[in-house]
Amino acid sequence: MTTIVNAGSIRPLRYLQGYPADTLAQVEKLLQEDRVADWLLKKYPQGHAVRTDRALFDYVQALKSEHLRGAEPLAKVAFDNKLQVVQHALGTHTNIARVQGNKLKAKREIRVASLFKHVPEDFLKMIAVHELAHLKERAHDKAFYNLCCYMEPRYHQLEFEVRVYLTHLEVSGARLWEAAPTPSS
Ligand SMILES: [Zn+2]
Repeated sequence: MTTIVNAGSIRPLRYLQGYPADTLAQVEKLLQEDRVADWLLKKYPQGHAVRTDRALFDYVQALKSEHLRGAEPLAKVAFDNKLQVVQHALGTHTNIARVQGNKLKAKREIRVASLFKHVPEDFLKMIAVHELAHLKERAHDKAFYNLCCYMEPRYHQLEFEVRVYLTHLEVSGARLWEAAPTPSS
């Protein structure tokens, strides 16, 4: 676990393990000055409008059709409020093998932690891209991240910002983007 020792405070930044020390120091400064919410809201004033599992399925399916046409079909995509967001488990992807007649069929399921219901669209895109990439690459290795960046060139920046938001939630508990976005009509 990474800890930053700064002005007498010791804070575990468990969602940000592996980032460079100067980056962590900047995040720590924002946290200490209570400016993370402002920083995120200025960058992303509005949450997305994907509210239901059906809408989430369509959203992920559209990304898949655009970038991963050849991958196996998605059987199910859903928000999951029981999913604990921990390091490397922002969402889950499962392969359910089932026998149909004499054929073994793989069913691909993607579950996204419910907190992603109330985030900017770019954050939802990050998690969708991450889980879609797992359809092809299981491990978090170079091939996996290359695929993420192919689908979303800002992938690394977005994952970092998502992790900053998770850190903010852990430290202050205050959710941002809770209100439904204004319908564009
Ligand atoms: Zn993963």
